[in-house]
This record gives sequence, structure tokens and C-alpha cells, in this order.
Amino acid sequence: MEKKITIAIDGFSSSGKSTMAKKLAKTIGYAYIDTGAMYRAVTLYCLRNNLIDGDAVNVAELEKCLPDICITFGVNPETGASETYLNGECVEREIREMRVSGKVSFVAAIPAVRHALVAQQQRMGAEKGIVMDGRDIGTVVFPDAEMKVYVDASAETRAQRRFDELRAKGNTEVTYEEVLRNVQERDRIDQTRAESPLRKADDALVLDNSHMTIAEQDEWLLSVFRRLTAN
Ligand code: C5P
Repeated sequence: MEKKITIAIDGFSSSGKSTMAKKLAKTIGYAYIDTGAMYRAVTLYCLRNNLIDGDAVNVAELEKCLPDICITFGVNPETGASETYLNGECVEREIREMRVSGKVSFVAAIPAVRHALVAQQQRMGAEKGIVMDGRDIGTVVFPDAEMKVYVDASAETRAQRRFDELRAKGNTEVTYEEVLRNVQERDRIDQTRAESPLRKADDALVLDNSHMTIAEQDEWLLSVFRRLTAN
């Protein structure tokens, strides 16, 4: 049987990395983990338990609650899509809302949160045969991953994609400017935080998909995988 490898896909928010990571995992029969969803689920927990005031997270209280926060993934039998669960409740829809997007980078900057989630991610990928996407997968979670991709695209392109996605889901309140501001603000926080900032791993391949179709990027990714796993 073909040897399984670890695939790390990192990049900015709304760069399309989740779409391509999901597709690749399905095509090659690997498990897929969306680590952004895990940070979003912790953020939702914080919002529900009043642990966030403006930009400030009640870190002491959150640290006490961390052992009680259980994040899992399940497959929706109707759509076949992977969905995120927070303490047994499906929160897939709620974690994508702007109120979560607006706070997630503050929660993701907390070292105790990162340590807990990174440890869980490393357990999930211990057997290899996994595609994981996030910000620090190739640098911190799996620095030895055989395939590392760093996805890049302009903030405007990414904001437009996110805006179209929210509109398609029926959100008519949000404006493009609001989404662009959120994308830029998250880029800034994710790149400048002290703990595991977003950066390209030295051995990662760069994919700038600003002017690529989804089919083109899928093809690019699959050809890299085939090349790396060919004997
Ligand atoms: O990928 P997504 O945009 O859903 O991620 C939401 C947020 O979670 C990011 O803006 C970032 O702050 C955080 N994140 C992270 N490390 C990861 C994945 C996501 O810090 N591995």
C-alpha cells in the first residue's frame, strides 16, 4: 500500500485553503482537519460564557475552562461535509458568523489556547494520512510534514470571496468594506502575535491563487501530491 504522508496547508484567512484542502483530502482518501474551526469553536465558547469584553479576553477564567471545552468533528450524513462540534453540539454554522470572526484572532493569540489545540491536532495527525489547514501547521504542529503549502492571495481578493460566501449563505447585512476590514485586521493580528505567528515555513511551496480558478488550484495541489508520493 502507498505510504501515507502529512499535508500541511497554511495561509491567510479566506485564501481558499479550506476548500482546496477539503477537496484534496477527499480525492486522495485522507482525513481533513480545519484547525481554524477549532479556534472559532473556542471563541464561540468564550462569547457564550461572557469571557470577552471588547478586545480583551478573560484569560485566567478561560484557562480554567479549557479542560471542559471539547471540540470534535463529525460528518453530516446528508451532505457528506465535515462539521464542527462544541461539547457535543453542532456549531458549524455559528462559528462562521461575523461575531466569531471579529474575535477569533484575539482568542487564537492566547498561548494556553494554542498549546491545548496544537496538542489535540498532533494527536489527530499522529497516524499521518491527513490534510490539515491553518496558520501554523507547517511551522509548529507538523514541522516534519512531507508536503507543505503556503497559500497567498491579495486581501481584496480574499475579502471578495468571503463576502460572496456570506451573501450566498443569506447574510444580507454585511458589507464588503466590513469584510475587508476584518480580513486585514486578522492578517495583522495573525502575523504579529508573539505565539506562533503566521509565517511561511522555509520548506513550504507557495501558491498564489489570486488569479487561479478552483479547478486550477485543485490540479496544482494534486500534482504536487503525486510528485511527492511517486516512488
Ligand atoms: O482559517 P480561519 O480563517 O477559519 O481561522 C480563523 C482564525 O483562527 C484565524 O484568523 C487565526 O486567528 C486563527 N487560527 C490560528 N491558527 C490556526 C488556524 C486558525 O491562529 N492553525
